[in-house]
Amino acid sequence: MKAMVLSRPGEPLRLVERPDPVPGAGELLVRVAACAVCRTDLQICQGDLPAKVLPIVPGHQIAGRVAAVGPGVSGWSPGERVGAAWLGGADGTCAQCAAGRENLCAAAAFTGWDRDGGYATHAVVCADFALALPDGFADLDAAPLLCGGVIGYRALAVSGIRPGGRLGLYGFGASATLAIQVARHWGCRVFVCTRSAAEQERARALGAEWAGGYDAAPPEKLDAAVTFAPAGSVVVAALKALDRGGTVAVNAIHLDRVPELDYGDLWWERSIRSVANFTRADARAFLALAAAVPVRTEVEVHPLEEANVALERLARGEVRGAAVLRVA
Ligand SMILES: [Zn+2]
Ligand SMILES: [Zn+2]
Repeated sequence: MKAMVLSRPGEPLRLVERPDPVPGAGELLVRVAACAVCRTDLQICQGDLPAKVLPIVPGHQIAGRVAAVGPGVSGWSPGERVGAAWLGGADGTCAQCAAGRENLCAAAAFTGWDRDGGYATHAVVCADFALALPDGFADLDAAPLLCGGVIGYRALAVSGIRPGGRLGLYGFGASATLAIQVARHWGCRVFVCTRSAAEQERARALGAEWAGGYDAAPPEKLDAAVTFAPAGSVVVAALKALDRGGTVAVNAIHLDRVPELDYGDLWWERSIRSVANFTRADARAFLALAAAVPVRTEVEVHPLEEANVALERLARGEVRGAAVLRVA
């Protein structure tokens, strides 16, 4: 197999050849067709998120085919389409797992962080955490749904937005462009705050009723908001825009400090909630919804060997939609 490997954060990934891995008990060997590039990959590669295992193959938005099935696996056969995402495993035994909140499992394993991911021709994934991919999505289009799409969907759920409600989206990158399609499908009125004029334009094209900068307040109070920008000041701006009882869902794995809050902004049962990872149930629900809407995403395609180029373009904010590595 070929893989793009991170040996030391801050250094470029290196292309290496390795023997094809053999799936262990409960695992699948996946022939990777496409792997989308996520901002979290960039944070791992740059060291903003401390590496857990080195060297590591990044990538947690994998679309491919089952190449081999390990011992004890049922429900998967060679040749089937399969996806793998950020949540690569959980212990299944802790109180959080027992309560269906495996996204909070302290022993969770993350694809491309704890175990090798999809910037490679092959990846070994835990069969219980593998995802069936809906028909109607090509591999290159399915891959970007598997992180930003699923987590954006969970963020909408955490925000408590109801069909027809007034929703604020703060930041308008890959995840938000997917979330707005779901929100519009639900008949929500969507207001978008984001820095760049091009992103504001794109938001309006995707059905936002209003789009402005972070310093501009939406013209109406919001029932719920989701923040995607990794800045605490944006969380406070979203909180100030909420109607009574509204929730800000913070969709960021990494956030600079949150400025001091005025309790008056939180009063009347407004709340701020973080969104951590997702459950398999979220992923399955989102993929079914994405097929029904259907959710579309703009992709720019790079060959596997040019993963560093894709990461650099993401770092510079040059990627429109999602960058996807074409592997096969
Ligand atoms: Zn657990
Ligand atoms: Zn991700």
